[in-house]
Amino acid sequence: MREPVFQTLPTVPDHPALEEEVLETWEREGTFEKLREQNAGGPRFSFFDGPVTANRFSLGVHTAWGRTLKDVFQRYKALQGFHQRYQNGFDCQGLWIEVGVEHELGLNSKREIEEYGLEAFARKCREVVVRSSEALTRGSIRLGQWMDWGKDYFTFSDTNIEYVWRMLKVVHERGWLYLGHRSTEWCPRCGTSISQHELIGSYVDRADPSLYVRFPLVDRSGESLVVWTTTPWTLPANVAAAVNPGERYGRRANGEWVAAARYPDETFAETKPGAELVGWRYRGPFDELAPDVDHRVIPWDDVSMDDGTGVVHIAPGCGAEDFDLSRVHDLPVLMPVDESGRFYDEYGWLHGLSTVEAAEQIIGDLGEKDILVEAGLHEHRYPECWRCHTPLIFRIADDWFISVLDLRKQMLDANAAVEWTPEYMGKRMDDWLHNMGDWNISRRRYYGLPLPFYPCACGHLNVIGSRAELESRAVSGLDQLEELRRPWIDRVPVRCAECGEAVERIKEVGDVWLDAGIVPFSTLGWQNEHWVEQGYATGAARGLTTADLPDHAYWEQWFPADWVSEMREQIRLWFYSQLFMSVVLTGRPPFQRVLGYEKMLDEAGREMHASWGNTIPAEEAFGRMGADVMRWQYCAQPPNQNLLFGFGPAEQIKKEFLTFWESVRFFIIYANIAEFRPSFGALDHWLLERTRAFVRDAEAGYEAYMTVDVVRGFVAYLDDLSNWYIRRSRRRFWNGEPEALATLWFALVQTLRVMSPILPFVTDRLWRDLVLDGPESVHLARWPEVAEPDRALLDEIADVRRVVTLAHQARATSGLKLRQPLRRLVVEGAIGAAAHADEIGDEVRVKDVAFDHVDAELKVKPNLPVLGPRLGKELRDVQQALVAGDFEELDGGRFRAAGHVLGSDEVLVERGGREGFAVASADGVTVALDTSLDDELLLEGRGYDLIRLVNSMRRDEGYELTDRIVLTVPEAESELIERHGDWIKDEVLATEIRIDGDVSIAKAAGRE
Ligand SMILES: [Zn+2]
Ligand SMILES: [Zn+2]
Repeated sequence: MREPVFQTLPTVPDHPALEEEVLETWEREGTFEKLREQNAGGPRFSFFDGPVTANRFSLGVHTAWGRTLKDVFQRYKALQGFHQRYQNGFDCQGLWIEVGVEHELGLNSKREIEEYGLEAFARKCREVVVRSSEALTRGSIRLGQWMDWGKDYFTFSDTNIEYVWRMLKVVHERGWLYLGHRSTEWCPRCGTSISQHELIGSYVDRADPSLYVRFPLVDRSGESLVVWTTTPWTLPANVAAAVNPGERYGRRANGEWVAAARYPDETFAETKPGAELVGWRYRGPFDELAPDVDHRVIPWDDVSMDDGTGVVHIAPGCGAEDFDLSRVHDLPVLMPVDESGRFYDEYGWLHGLSTVEAAEQIIGDLGEKDILVEAGLHEHRYPECWRCHTPLIFRIADDWFISVLDLRKQMLDANAAVEWTPEYMGKRMDDWLHNMGDWNISRRRYYGLPLPFYPCACGHLNVIGSRAELESRAVSGLDQLEELRRPWIDRVPVRCAECGEAVERIKEVGDVWLDAGIVPFSTLGWQNEHWVEQGYATGAARGLTTADLPDHAYWEQWFPADWVSEMREQIRLWFYSQLFMSVVLTGRPPFQRVLGYEKMLDEAGREMHASWGNTIPAEEAFGRMGADVMRWQYCAQPPNQNLLFGFGPAEQIKKEFLTFWESVRFFIIYANIAEFRPSFGALDHWLLERTRAFVRDAEAGYEAYMTVDVVRGFVAYLDDLSNWYIRRSRRRFWNGEPEALATLWFALVQTLRVMSPILPFVTDRLWRDLVLDGPESVHLARWPEVAEPDRALLDEIADVRRVVTLAHQARATSGLKLRQPLRRLVVEGAIGAAAHADEIGDEVRVKDVAFDHVDAELKVKPNLPVLGPRLGKELRDVQQALVAGDFEELDGGRFRAAGHVLGSDEVLVERGGREGFAVASADGVTVALDTSLDDELLLEGRGYDLIRLVNSMRRDEGYELTDRIVLTVPEAESELIERHGDWIKDEVLATEIRIDGDVSIAKAAGRE
């Protein structure tokens, strides 16, 4: 016996095992390297990878989604022959990293970090990045992502830091950099302000204390103002009480003043307009602790009548609006708590307490002083720190800002040139740009970009733009400068350019989005004179990467990116910071196209949280569903909707994919029997055209960055391939017809090429099984170039399939078996199918197919749960009209009855045939199946029953598909055998039929 041409496939793929094998093959054969070599001379397609934060020790399925999309389009562009960069990036600094290390070391405050030592702390942070980047790399490789691993960029490299310095110096030279003194949201645990873009989405439901407090009036004995607050800790910083000058205020019998509109049921001893209260003086609630302050009533038009008492407690050191009012009314600003949110020493018995701890004590104290009216709890939305989830407070802080006044318009213009998918995300970016405040770039932390600001006592602000400049202006400390990082950098004072005095750096580090936003410049060698081998591996990145620092000519070639892709939240983060820096440095957008996508939830639609037990580590998903199935799940997702990811959908995908696997398996079985060797040659016309259409449509999907369209096209194509082409051509495969085999082979192979970006493992495995003398890997096979398909022919067959589906539906309502031949089918509509009447008859087992008018009766009933509520009493009239057949059919499945237009969802429609006909209809096509049977038809039906029985016996006996048999049937079937014996012999590969006893089979001697 000859060796089979093709290796047979198992009935079901073992995705994880298959993928591990393919990974080994890629590694052994250097497939990715070969691909890059193959495309080296091609046109450029520039993609920038947004850095993943290196603070996790395994790849998450969330991150795997983004990585899959990046990989899919890089693979697609590679098939198209594009020369590309494949540089992966890691984000390595900032609070994410610090908070993790604090947790690991059991440190709880900045004081404890400083006691631990900044050098040791910096080394711990770097260790986290190293471990995390290794784990993320492993996970990404397992996912099938092809990147230039080992040449990654790390945002904590000195090179990256220097590029940010350079950008900041430009900002300073343009006069946009300033030190702001303002009220800001502050995380007391992290000890740093939180900037505007970090606040979005950080509001949570919380219950806070709700206090009503009396402020006794100084000049009106026995009278007081009543205020309401949910932040007791701010009361010691009170300096004023605000009233709405346009509202009326009333005095209760007990002397308490409140807004009359807030207490409509109360009667007041007297009322006054708010304007008359302005200027009244009162005793503050903590006058014994706070510095001497003259408390008074001020007017404020924004005092709300929706909550509280209509008298608002004002503490300019603890709130943004309060701070603004202090400027208008020249109020003192008391700041009671330090960076860690603890009361300063001068606040007496409160000193050292946190804002939360102080609340209890303050409530007790107010009670003892008899100025507490009422204390309870108040539920509201309140912002918390996005890193550590501590509730934020307001503090007045000195932070460094970049003014966006001159930049806003330029950034909007730049964004207008960017093509966003989905489109609304571009609008979101516009909204953000319209509303963004000045960028607060400073953080009072440790492991981050050291801001190169050296303010001198003489008033000059020195901004250092590079390491070289630092070295030339350093007064001392260069010998110990390991990295451009705290604490080492803090020990390098520079000489003031103005007065020559030694000046120290400010202690603040930079917002992490500076690190990530500079990537289009720092990794591509913007304004760098000479190419430096491994020149990116500086500072903390030394030993972690072999990435070069290219020269400016290289930057010119690769900037801007043709395409970038990240989650929607990156609009105000990475997309924003990149755009910001690019506009500052070049006046141009850094990318031309963006693919954004929404959030990932679990399969039940809930957020994934470790504490809810519904997170899925990528490792687990690789083991249980496999990377191809994960990738399919990601790619089948429209980017404008949340992805509900899980093992349930994975099972469904495995089933869908099995159709393709089985098609390949089917091909291999018959190709081996026929000893078929594939060649590009004869092709079945329709499948060729259908395949062309699939390739074309998939191409359009990829070009629009809509993987969902590619996956949908694939599923529809598979249905045509398997449920039409293969099923219709079965007999040809049994006969080993080379044309059928060649056509199917061609279709399968094209499909592998089209789907290889999305399913890189299983497609490569099957490619290697099917393609004997082509490129060794599907990934080296190039995108199939196909001519425009014959769409008219495709529409025709689509009509045929529609008719067949309806005919099966009609048969199902009649209760007749599929095997039972019938006399006649009448088709109305689907005129394109008329040329295929024989095929339809064969497919639905009907002798005669006619294209003619179908005489069908239309029954329309009201859909009561929908229509009832809408029509109320008038439903009766409509119902009667429908029963009486007194209605008119409108387009779009609508009807008019008793003067009402009824939508397609408001009615239930049945089409009944004349007696003896089963009818089905959809989309303007109606079919009527003649269900009457005669002896002739019944006999033929028994023939089909027998064929089916014998073929299942063949399978049960384990006969080869080519084995010939001798069939024995009982006496009762002699008429059947007499009339249809040859046909039956043919169908079951029988050499002889004997009449004797029960139905049985035996192998025939020798092959015919
Ligand atoms: Zn925090
Ligand atoms: Zn100076």
